[in-house]
Amino acid sequence: MKLILSKGVAEKLSLYVAECPGEVSGLGEVELVGGDVRVTKLHLLKQVATQAATDLDQGAVAELMCDLLRKGVDTGNLRLWWHSHGGMDTFWSTTDDKTCGMLSGAWMVAVVTNKQGKFLARMELREPFNLSAEVGVSIDRETDPTLLAEVKAEVAAKVRKPVYVTERKQKGKLKQGIMGLVPSHWVDARWEYEELDRMLYKRELEGLEGV
Ligand SMILES: [Zn+2]
Repeated sequence: MKLILSKGVAEKLSLYVAECPGEVSGLGEVELVGGDVRVTKLHLLKQVATQAATDLDQGAVAELMCDLLRKGVDTGNLRLWWHSHGGMDTFWSTTDDKTCGMLSGAWMVAVVTNKQGKFLARMELREPFNLSAEVGVSIDRETDPTLLAEVKAEVAAKVRKPVYVTERKQKGKLKQGIMGLVPSHWVDARWEYEELDRMLYKRELEGLEGV
């Protein structure tokens, strides 16, 4: 079993680390893929970032949980604790050991990173027994499936296909034709398909040239 970071997640994590002078920490959502744990989303916690130790602020964790529950997010996937050591090396400090010991749930994964882009991860098992074991980290350079699914859904909801079927009479017969690409200035998000079709049809009736 290893911890997989998609390139998008790894980049976001390195940007959080880059933007914070010292330590910074947060949680993450994960999914199980083929026996590995894949990070799907990172959450930055409200915190007082110091140069040294990062404690997991229980108040900030509770606030994040409430926020996610309000948005209908399954907090059962919130199984990652990530933090950065800033410019220092990646290792498990006594504070980190203590924090890992406090992680509840059947299992959790912790990862520590730094400004040099090093990673160190461990699995924290609580059931059926307590176990803490180091796990490998791998960065997936393939297209992020979570990002791809989000983009596909957004495109499907917002982007209309620029091909329209119109009807016209040609030698007394009703013919269907494809208008082709519609210039972008014709397309307005407020228009429904039908309205747009009517407009295209009207242009044809008026003898205006097609697209
Ligand atoms: Zn640490």
